[in-house]
Amino acid sequence: MNQTANAVVECRMCNNLTEFYFEQWQLAELAKPRRERMLMQDIFPNFSIADRELIISNTCDTCWQELYGSEEEE
Ligand SMILES: [Zn+2]
Repeated sequence: MNQTANAVVECRMCNNLTEFYFEQWQLAELAKPRRERMLMQDIFPNFSIADRELIISNTCDTCWQELYGSEEEE
């Protein structure tokens, strides 16, 4: 059974709010220390790179590109 929970992630730069729907196991993975958890692309295969970045670093796509340019991530 897949239980979902919604979570609102706030961009630390512009305070933009983005709502995500996570499954319980995904939240459990996220709560683990970085080196013990699965790769972000394995936890969130359906999320865009920008969405993953927002979840990891609390920086939205717009601010991310302002900070680091718009280079494509591998
Ligand atoms: Zn932002």
